[in-house]
Amino acid sequence: MKLSQLPFKPTNNPPAQADTVNHKLLVQAGFVRQLMAGVYTYAPLGLRTLNKIRNIIRTEMDAVGGNEILMPSLQPSANWKVTGGWDSIDVLFKVKSRTEKNYALGQSHEEIVTPLAKEIIKSYRDLPLALYQIHWKFRDELRAKSGILRGREFEMKDMYSFHETQADFDRFYQEVKEAYLRAYQKIGLVAKVTEASGGAFTQKISYEFMVLTDAGEDDIFYCEKCDFCINSEIAKQKAGDACPKCGAELKMARASEVGNVFDLGQKYARDFEVEFVGRDGKKAFPIMGCYGWGTTRIMGVLVEKLHDDKGIIWPASVAPFQVQLISLNGVEEIAKSVYDQLIKAGLEVLWDDRDTSPGAKFAAADLIGNPIRLVVSTKTADQVEWKARESGETELISVDETIGRIRSLQVY
Ligand code: ATP
Ligand code: MG
Repeated sequence: MKLSQLPFKPTNNPPAQADTVNHKLLVQAGFVRQLMAGVYTYAPLGLRTLNKIRNIIRTEMDAVGGNEILMPSLQPSANWKVTGGWDSIDVLFKVKSRTEKNYALGQSHEEIVTPLAKEIIKSYRDLPLALYQIHWKFRDELRAKSGILRGREFEMKDMYSFHETQADFDRFYQEVKEAYLRAYQKIGLVAKVTEASGGAFTQKISYEFMVLTDAGEDDIFYCEKCDFCINSEIAKQKAGDACPKCGAELKMARASEVGNVFDLGQKYARDFEVEFVGRDGKKAFPIMGCYGWGTTRIMGVLVEKLHDDKGIIWPASVAPFQVQLISLNGVEEIAKSVYDQLIKAGLEVLWDDRDTSPGAKFAAADLIGNPIRLVVSTKTADQVEWKARESGETELISVDETIGRIRSLQVY
């Protein structure tokens, strides 16, 4: 794609009221636009990155046997009354129609997926079942802030599982935890797993996936020597205490929750009377789990973690483009030929073909943060200047070698 034709371009001017790095850089580099607090448009660059994040988690959910569906955001109040959520969930957006009917905007989809599952689950042979979607959620958050970290409209991958026995569920729960950790790793994040209480409806343990960042809203205690990690809200421990697992000293850090998994027990299955005929011929309720993963928040957390004073440094797996090609004055034809060769090789290239200064083009490349910058100038002859966004070292190499190197970048 030619940068001259990109509708939302990087600029020198950061937004006036950005409270976090992700807000500042994502707007300034042309990834998102804010409509109001907690509500954003994803511009072409932002949508390309979001699509890559979506696909990484999609691949992992398909691999554990998840079936992708897409459920409605506009939901009848009746479903929320069945579970009690209509009166108890403070973030639920309620909408009244002109005929005085009440609706909710989906803040999570247990109330919709459970009656759907009821249609499918008749006997133990219909289990296990795992349905998931990658979809927008609406929440009346009191303080929507920190750019795309806390939205009132945000995207989540939410999966819901139904199992015949607790043992079956426990095995699947473990598989999803591992799939989550693989997905974070592919995206370029290290997530710590905390144990937390299971929230409003269940006493069971849930796990939260936390990435250390000062822009987050959770405090966690973690051990540097082993994998012990706990949310401060429920912890018996405090910073400086001995790790209950290995005895090393516990540290405290700010973190952002990028996902979580819950054992929901039989709460929703009982509410919606989802019963199946078991192996013994008797009726039973399935064990249900839910698994949230914040696609848009993760994009913001990546920016918080991976940036310098010039801009964003995207991991190759989720960068909007693999390459930012810069042509300096007087070499338009050579640049066009390099661009065509890269595109023909199947690479994702953003070509800064604008009639502007070299300095402005270098600044734009650093701001957007694609992993590889290539420069074609009168000095590069039939080669190109290669620079990784991360390392800063430049070298002259042939176009063929460029193609080979980019293909070997870590892309999933
Ligand atoms: P938080 O404690 O941050 O409010 P939560 O416990 O409400 O999160 P869930 O309802 O389980 O989270 O949602 C699953 C995932 O969706 C979270 O782990 C997080 O990554 C993401 N998420 C939750 N709320 C928001 C929000 N307001 N904006 C962006 N992402 C969110
Ligand atoms: Mg919340």
